Amino acid sequence: MSILRFHAIKESLNHKPIKVNEPARRSEIFGENVFNEQSMRQFLTKDSYKSVMSAVEHGTKIDRQMADQISTGMKEWAISKGVTHYTHWFQPLTGATAEKHDAFFETMDDGHAVEKFAGGQLVQQEPDASSFPNGGIRNTFEARGYTAWDPTSPAFIYGTTLCIPTVFVSYTGEALDYKTPLLRALQSIDGAATAVAKYFDKNVSKVTASLGWEQEYFLVDSALAASRPDIALAGRTLLGHSSAKGQQLDDHYFGSIPSRALNYMRDLETECMLLGIPVKTRHNEVAPNQFELAPIYEESNLAVDHNSLLMDVMKKVADRHNFVVLFHEKPFAGVNGSGKHNNWSLATNTGVNLLGPGSTPMKNLQFLTFFINTLKAVNDHEELIRASIASASNDHRLGANEAPPAVISAFIGEQLTAVLDELEKVTNGKLSPQEKTDLKLNVVGKIPEILLDNTDRNRTSPFAFTGNKFEFRAVGSTANCANPMTVLNAIVANQLIDFKKSVDALIKDENMKKDDAIFNVLREYIKDSKRIRFEGDGYGEAWEKEAKKRGLSNHKTAPVALKARVSKKTIALFEGLGIMNKVEIEARYEIELEEYAKRIQIEGRILGDIARNHVIPTAIKYQNILIENVQGLKDIYGKDFKKFAGEQMVLIEEISAHIATINSKITAMIDARKKANKITDVSKLAIAYCDDVKPYFDEIRHPCDKLELLVDDELWPLTKYRELLFTK
Ligand code: ADP
Ligand code: MG
Repeated sequence: MSILRFHAIKESLNHKPIKVNEPARRSEIFGENVFNEQSMRQFLTKDSYKSVMSAVEHGTKIDRQMADQISTGMKEWAISKGVTHYTHWFQPLTGATAEKHDAFFETMDDGHAVEKFAGGQLVQQEPDASSFPNGGIRNTFEARGYTAWDPTSPAFIYGTTLCIPTVFVSYTGEALDYKTPLLRALQSIDGAATAVAKYFDKNVSKVTASLGWEQEYFLVDSALAASRPDIALAGRTLLGHSSAKGQQLDDHYFGSIPSRALNYMRDLETECMLLGIPVKTRHNEVAPNQFELAPIYEESNLAVDHNSLLMDVMKKVADRHNFVVLFHEKPFAGVNGSGKHNNWSLATNTGVNLLGPGSTPMKNLQFLTFFINTLKAVNDHEELIRASIASASNDHRLGANEAPPAVISAFIGEQLTAVLDELEKVTNGKLSPQEKTDLKLNVVGKIPEILLDNTDRNRTSPFAFTGNKFEFRAVGSTANCANPMTVLNAIVANQLIDFKKSVDALIKDENMKKDDAIFNVLREYIKDSKRIRFEGDGYGEAWEKEAKKRGLSNHKTAPVALKARVSKKTIALFEGLGIMNKVEIEARYEIELEEYAKRIQIEGRILGDIARNHVIPTAIKYQNILIENVQGLKDIYGKDFKKFAGEQMVLIEEISAHIATINSKITAMIDARKKANKITDVSKLAIAYCDDVKPYFDEIRHPCDKLELLVDDELWPLTKYRELLFTK
């Protein structure tokens, strides 16, 4: 065995479960490191407390004097917990979170030192924006970026640093991060949904979009991960023959959690509790060493921050447990990949879940309104939805076997399908009293019972209604949820605005009663959005054909899928709602394409290096052993040697053939890369990497994996799948 692999395995065997200290009651430590209402009451003046709460609840501005009071209180709270530094914490478009720590510590003119944190430092900071991706915005405007406090997501302490969630924008106001457009989209959906909810209850004054994500991930022993250059540099394996035993026996899913992993989770969950991340569920996933963690759902902006923070904390806690967390959507070929289901719903300030069917016909009509409008929005913007989850790594999942297909469709269940079919028959114009009674009894009245047993959830659907929320299942495990959530909330907001216009017009121009008008508009929407509804097996080939007939998009690769991000329709949507302007939209598109090309470029280099520096030399070593053997047999048996050396000679030839394929394909891949690199148009560059470079990956991998099976295990330098996946 190669020395590296030997040591990695030996070290991994020495990694034992690490003891963790858990509080007896989690509720006792929940939010301990968060500047939440409780700590604010304790550390803020009455006025400054009120001004933060009003900013959170009504989006009001916090004035300078208040900011000074708040920052002082925040600093005192932080120092009482041993904090020395503060940072503006934000989510640039790199996909990671960013922070730059500054000490509270300051020296005065007279030489003595104090801890200081002024309102200005809380509210606004200027990180050096030049090294974050900005898709040309900076060049266009020569703008520098600054971060600005987002009071709707509470400050928290991590380690000895006070972290202040912020937006990241250029001086000319363009969003340079994920949070800014999300906040604008959430504002849009609040306005649009509140206006519609008022049809049913005048007391509604705010609607909040909720998000409950489910994070899937793999744990790999840190010593084993370090022995694989592909895992270390790309977060996934680029080669490796599948293990004889993988997930065929389905013995991992919901199985007992191995104790090393369990201790990691317990430690992680304690950290989450302190940070106010309400994690609730943990379990094994389908693949070996694959797990899932899910919190109780929260307001979307907070939920997005919590997911980004969690991913960071997961890596740090994993260090202590000698694990590496793989968030990649497809770290291992042949076993399941990872996703991040986004459960989404809308709730009013009066405590009603607008996607919950409720118990009375009135509430059901409200439910149907939001339910059908969501379907219509998804129908009209399916391409943009697909684009919102497009990335080089998610391409491995979409359309592959265990994940949602690249076609966006919505599953609603048999019973709701029946309800919509009946509603579709509503006559045009005013409803007779009899019709109204029928509708309410037959359609609306039935829903609550119906949904109780709506358990036949279709696991193959990318967008499924699951009783009281929609579950957007096509989101990738590495994704920042802000991206798909911005799109989903924006398209539904836009749809609800259209809906209200149509209903109001019928009431005014056709003299219809409100209920009649609503039924009439919904009926049209049901017809218009039929093509997005699909209840069958989303993984089958039949669906791809059917989807094509229906005119649904089926973009299998990110560079093609991303085009919808800059379509006229998308720009009109985002500009219309004031979420992003054309410059911001195009900048993001450019960043995503650039990132795509870079990822494929990096992976191509890693694969080429491993194949040439690890695989080929090892194959030659083993081939030499075979040659020596054949030579020896020839010495002993003379011209009869083939009787004994025949199979060895077959192996020698097979090895030569694989080496030849690998080497020539690497040369061809490098040529394709060089050619691609000359392209200046970034969308063509991404397509070239996708169509001309990436296809070599499989062609190079295949002979490498064959060699892994042929070559003496003692010589093989790379830690194997069975070792990576089955170390407990
Ligand atoms: P699974 O999809 O694994 O079967 P569930 O259907 O129980 O699991 O999904 C649970 C997830 O849905 C949790 O993360 C939970 O917080 C979230 N969830 C439940 N209700 C809502 C809601 N109204 N809005 C958003 N997310 C919700
Ligand atoms: Mg789920």
